[in-house]
Amino acid sequence: MTVIEALVDLQEVDGRIREMELELKDLPRRKALETARLSGVSADLQAAKAGQEYAEQRIRGYEEEAKALADKIQQLKTTQMGLKTNKEYQDFSIQIDLVTHELTAAENNQIAALDELPAAQARVKDAQSRYDAEKGGVDAFCAEIDGRMAEVSSALAEAQKERAEKVKAVTDPKFLLYYERLRTKRWPVVAALTHDGVCDGCHLVQPPSVGQLADANAKNGAEGKPQSIVACTMCGRILYRD
Ligand SMILES: [Zn+2]
Repeated sequence: MTVIEALVDLQEVDGRIREMELELKDLPRRKALETARLSGVSADLQAAKAGQEYAEQRIRGYEEEAKALADKIQQLKTTQMGLKTNKEYQDFSIQIDLVTHELTAAENNQIAALDELPAAQARVKDAQSRYDAEKGGVDAFCAEIDGRMAEVSSALAEAQKERAEKVKAVTDPKFLLYYERLRTKRWPVVAALTHDGVCDGCHLVQPPSVGQLADANAKNGAEGKPQSIVACTMCGRILYRD
C-alpha cells in the first residue's frame, strides 16, 4: 500500500468520525428543542388552570357576598320586629329593600360567573389532553435520541480505535503531519486530480507541473518508491492520480 492509499484509508475513517461527531452535537440540540416545545404546551395548561381558578374564585366571592347580604336582611328584619314607631319601621323597610336589591345583584352575578365555569373547565381539559399527548410524544422522542446517542457514541469509540490503526499505516510522518494540520481547515484533505487537471476539492485548474508531479507520484507508488506531497496551488489539498 502506498502512503497516499494509506492516507485515503485514514480519510475514510475520519469522514465517518466527523459525521458521528456532528450528530453527537446535534442530538442534544434536537432534544432541547422538543423539550422547549413541551414547556410551551405546559404554559398553556398553566394558563388554563389559572383561568379556571379565577372563575371559581369569582363564584365563591359572589356566594359569600350573597350570604352576607342574606344575613344582613335577616338581622334587619329581626331588629325591625322590635321597633316601636311606624317611622322607624318604614325606614327599616327601605333599608331591607335596598339590601334585597344588592342580594339579587350578587345572585345574578353568581349565576353569570357559574355560566363561565364550564368553558374554563373545558379549556383545562383540552390543554391537559394536549399536554398529555405531547408529553408522551416528547418522552418517546427523547428516549429515542438517548438511544441514538449511546449507539453513535459506541460506534465513534470503535472508529477511533480503527483510526489509530490507520494512522500507523501512514508510514511517512511528513504526509501525516500535513494531513493532520490541514484536516481542521479543509475537508476532505486528500483529493483526486481529475484528468482535466482540476483539483477535486476546490475545482481549480492546476498548472501542468502539478499534473506531472502527480503522475510521477503515481508511478513511484506503483514501483514501491517513496512518494512526495503534491498539493493544490489554491487550497493546499493533497492531490493524487490513480
Ligand atoms: Zn484545491
